[in-house]
This record gives sequence, structure tokens and C-alpha cells, in this order.
Amino acid sequence: MAVWDDVVGQSHVVAELAAAAADADAVVTSGAAGSRMTHAWLFTGPPGSGRATAARAFAAALQCVSPDRALGGAPGCGFCEGCHTTLVGTHADVEFVRTDLLSIGVKDTRDLVRRASMSPAGGRWQVIVLEDADRLTEGAGNVLLKAVEEPAPRTVWLLCAPSVEDALPTIRSRCRLLTLRTPSAEAVADVLTRRDGIEPGLAAQVAWATQGHIDRARRLATDEAARERRAAVLRLPMRIGDIGGCLRAAQELVDAAAEDAKAVAEEVDAKETEELRAALGAAAGTGGRMPRGTAGVMKDLADRQKRRSTRTQRDTLDLALTDLAGFYRDVLAVQLGSDERIANVEVADGIRRLAADSRPEQSLRRIEAVLACREALDRNVAPLLAVEAMTLTLRAA
Ligand SMILES: [Zn+2]
Repeated sequence: MAVWDDVVGQSHVVAELAAAAADADAVVTSGAAGSRMTHAWLFTGPPGSGRATAARAFAAALQCVSPDRALGGAPGCGFCEGCHTTLVGTHADVEFVRTDLLSIGVKDTRDLVRRASMSPAGGRWQVIVLEDADRLTEGAGNVLLKAVEEPAPRTVWLLCAPSVEDALPTIRSRCRLLTLRTPSAEAVADVLTRRDGIEPGLAAQVAWATQGHIDRARRLATDEAARERRAAVLRLPMRIGDIGGCLRAAQELVDAAAEDAKAVAEEVDAKETEELRAALGAAAGTGGRMPRGTAGVMKDLADRQKRRSTRTQRDTLDLALTDLAGFYRDVLAVQLGSDERIANVEVADGIRRLAADSRPEQSLRRIEAVLACREALDRNVAPLLAVEAMTLTLRAA
């Protein structure tokens, strides 16, 4: 299986990356000047289009050491030591940076830049994959800018962001831009069946329901709790007949997101805290009590965990709102006469009923209400307040 097999429905991007990888290989093996190779790339595309997956595949192709290359084979075999270790995240010269936090600051970025300037241990490329380049603070962007402007000869930066506008202007102007698109539901279903062994019927259903968002489709297919949460969200439009119902539905939506954040925290925080305590305690040899001067470090960790919890909660809520907007989009599609395009087939009856009982203008206003709520959350409006405002608007529309 070649590294590109995971990059679903993006043939134009794959062609460009494969050509660059071939030239990059020529640079390493024969010192040829790589005309199609670039040191800084910006992968953009809507959520679920597989930006990070494409960047990882490219990183693997850059590290490919398959003997077939000497026989004219393209780099990116998927099997050799270079490809394999990159894909599983253990290659010494490939750093994947993803963050649970809302922003990436100057200090972390300095560490990265230092790392990027090292020559590759494997003799090929030093690759840094920055999955959330849209989260760089302006200060961090300035630190990165210098590194991107004057890269070490064998350093490659792969930045990912939802859209060009999400990357800092100074950075994006120095990067080669790749634009991924939302893959078709068929392409997503195919990869879920082929790679994840998901039963074809279920794969087709979740691929269609998530409209080509591959990670969400996979999560829905494999995670019962995610399916239940989604079902609860899709029942919301039937429950907002009166103001009490609106407020209750809002509270439940926010509570569910908080639960999700708590589940993540329980899994990760305690272990993290214990590890740090052990590391600090062990260094000072004091056993159970925390040594002097370590309170600040512990507090840093607590702050980080709190920010991560906020982000998980926001992400979960955002997903719920995406599902909800999809519901009203379905209602609108039915009203406009394209019944066969319903994405949320599991609630098709409710969608048809609401379509018959309301007008297209109302559906439009409801979609706008959901989008307005997402924007409010982006601006850090208190979640319950934003969601209550939304459910009340949905009812009044
Ligand atoms: Zn390979």
C-alpha cells in the first residue's frame, strides 16, 4: 500500500506531492537540484479533508528508502523503514506537532525552530509537521517566519490550517499552497471499509451522514458514545416547542460537551500530573512531598490542562452544532425539492415533517442561528448563553 492510499479523494494534491517527493529524492541521492521541491508547504482544506494525513504521507515519501526507487519506482512505497516509521510517528527526523491548546506560543515555536535546524540523522530530510498552524500566536509566527524564510538545506516545514486565511499572512506568503477538498461520501466509505475493516453498510451510512468528513465518519463507525451524542443532537429540533424545552435542550447540549471534556481529562490529566510529580520528586529525592520551587511547574501543568479541557468542550460543542446545521440544511433541501439528498437519513421522517410544516425562509434563519452560535463560541461567549440564544432563535424563526 503506497503512502498516498490514505489521502482520500485528492488526486490533484497527490500528483503534486508525488512529483515533489520524486525530485526531493533526486536531491538526496544524486544532488540534483529539485525543481518541484519546496521547503515550506501550507496544506489547507475544510475539516475532515485530511490535511494532516496528506502532510504525513508526504513526510513518509520524503523519507522513503525503498530499493525500488533505484529501478525507477516513485518514493512513498509505504513499506520500507523510512515510510513505515514516519507513518507510525517514530522516525527520528520527522516531528509531528499537534496541540490540545487554543494557541501555540513563542517558547514552543523556538524549540521547534531549533529542532528544524538540526541536520537529519537519517541523511535525508528534517521534516516538521505543524498540524495546527492556525493556532500560532503572532509572536510565534514571527519566530517561525525566520526559519521558513531561510531554511536549512534539508529542512522541510509542512504546515496545516483549515484555510489560507487562517494562517498568518507573513507565513502563508512564504509557503507553497495546497488545497484539499472534501472527499466524496463514496471515497470515504471505501477507505473505511478497506483500511479500517468497517462493514460496508455502516461505512456508507456514516460517510454519508458526515458528508465526507473522514475522521468523524470513522469515529461514528467505531464509537457508540459518539453515535448516541449525535442522535441526541438530531432530536433537538423536535424538542424546542416551548421556551422551557429550548432552555433544557441548551443545558443538555452544554452538559454533554462538558462530560466529554471531563472524560478526556480523567483519562489524561491524572497520569500527566502523576508523571510530573514523580519527575520533580525523584529529581530532588523527597518522595511524597513536593520539593521547594516546583509549585510553579505544577501550576503550569494545571493551567495547560484547564486550557485543554476548554478546547475539548468547545470542539465537542462545535461538532454538535455542525450536526444541527446539517439537519436544517436537510430540511431546506427537502423544501427545495431535493429529497434524495438528505444527509441525516436516520431522522428523515422528522426532517420531512418539519419541511412540510415550515417555509424555506425559516430553515435559512435556523441555519443562520446555528452558525451565529458557532461564531459566538469562537468569540468566547459563555457556552450556555450562546446555545440558549440559539435554541430560542430556532423556535422563534
Ligand atoms: Zn518507502
